[in-house]
Amino acid sequence: MWHAPATNSWRRVRCSLRERVSPLREADPILIVGAGMAGALTALRLGRAGYGVRIFDRHSHPRPTFRAEKLTQDQIEGLRELGALEAFEQANWGAVATRQSPDQLHDLSNCGARHEAWLDALWNLWPSSVTFTPTAVDAIYPDRERPCVRLSTGETVFGRLVVVASGTWLGADSGLDLDYEIVSPRHSVCVGLSLAKSDDGPGEVVEAPPGSALSYVSFIPMDDELRLNIFTFDPDDAGFLPALKADPIKVLSHAMPNIAAKLHEAVVTRPFEIRIVDLKRMKSPAQDGVVVIGDAFATVCPASGTGMTKVIADVKALTEIYAPRWFATPGLGSDKIAQFYADPHKCAADALALKRSINGRKSVLGETPYWRARRLVGRFKRGLELAAAQWGRPAARPFGISTRRGADT
Ligand SMILES: Cc1cc2nc3c(=O)[nH]c(=O)nc-3n(C[C@H](O)[C@H](O)[C@H](O)COP(=O)(O)OP(=O)(O)OC[C@H]3O[C@@H](n4cnc5c(N)ncnc54)[C@H](O)[C@@H]3O)c2cc1C
Repeated sequence: MWHAPATNSWRRVRCSLRERVSPLREADPILIVGAGMAGALTALRLGRAGYGVRIFDRHSHPRPTFRAEKLTQDQIEGLRELGALEAFEQANWGAVATRQSPDQLHDLSNCGARHEAWLDALWNLWPSSVTFTPTAVDAIYPDRERPCVRLSTGETVFGRLVVVASGTWLGADSGLDLDYEIVSPRHSVCVGLSLAKSDDGPGEVVEAPPGSALSYVSFIPMDDELRLNIFTFDPDDAGFLPALKADPIKVLSHAMPNIAAKLHEAVVTRPFEIRIVDLKRMKSPAQDGVVVIGDAFATVCPASGTGMTKVIADVKALTEIYAPRWFATPGLGSDKIAQFYADPHKCAADALALKRSINGRKSVLGETPYWRARRLVGRFKRGLELAAAQWGRPAARPFGISTRRGADT
């Protein structure tokens, strides 16, 4: 729960500042806190639509961060509709594209890139109407006329709307009276790991529920490495992470006997990164002049593969429908902001992400007869696949694994 700042003195400062800068009122920019996927895409869309935008991030360049590293087909479509796909294509193919003819390139849904490479390319697409300030925002103050942010430098910046896209940051002293519901604490553990590329490695994204110690693994071919995203739903399994850290290839081979032979000679090229994720979502009512999007609104289980889908839905609703509608009449009261949170497409994307996140965990740890039966059927199917692979039948996909994530949750 965040607490509003001591308000009387703050209101006085705000009023005197407002009077001093009121001639600039029409030119007030839209302020965006955070230049991750949600903030960067919003800045791109609003900047291209001709709005003045100021975007703030605590980092001056996208720094290495373990987040979404591949895209699903519907996310690719969404990014195309947002006019942002070229950034992702450039980051995924980059140098490879100059070496190979287009028909030799992976389908974009079948290769990946480091998250920061996508962001870097995206930041480069911002038009000149977007001004980037590499400074952390310390506090955000709602207001129906002129909301504002206080920067870590002490400067206060007023805008016509504040878009909060700061991911999981929103400190208790953020100034917003926001309240979160923790839907599932320590919901899942995600591990990122890089292997040297080899000739017999997968040529496309392979996703597999190994069905034992690990809950889920994605193999993602990148330009210069084979990336693994490993998910498990049991953060309290004390033995798992140390074992993975000590010998990742051994743990993977044990959990996935069908690919053990291929992993045998794999070389780990980068130390792995671990994220433990809480599922949480905002439950506060809307506030004047401030809208919260992306992970700052609700987090998802990374294994659900729906984080980017949710970001895209938020950015579309905000930039295509609500921002233009809100600015057509004066004032940005909480009643207007509430329209965004009730948008049917946004709500559907949030609901899907939540359902997949919850069901993904239940499919591994659920104790009801339904989930137990599903696990049994899953094990049976995997046994058949393994047998088919051993008997030399051509595998449906590289590594003999055919299950795509999210298909049945
Ligand atoms: C390990 C992992 C794997 C994932 N894999 C997938 C996947 O395969 N598919 C998928 O669809 N989704 C995936 N997700 C989810 C997806 O990455 C997120 O939903 C998405 O990146 C959220 O973007 P965002 O912009 O809302 O937040 P973030 O990416 O967290 O960006 C927030 C930005 O705000 C900045 N910031 C924070 N506080 C401040 C401040 N006070 N002042 C200024 N700037 C600030 C940060 O520096 C950052 O740049 C994964 C997530 C994780 C953690």
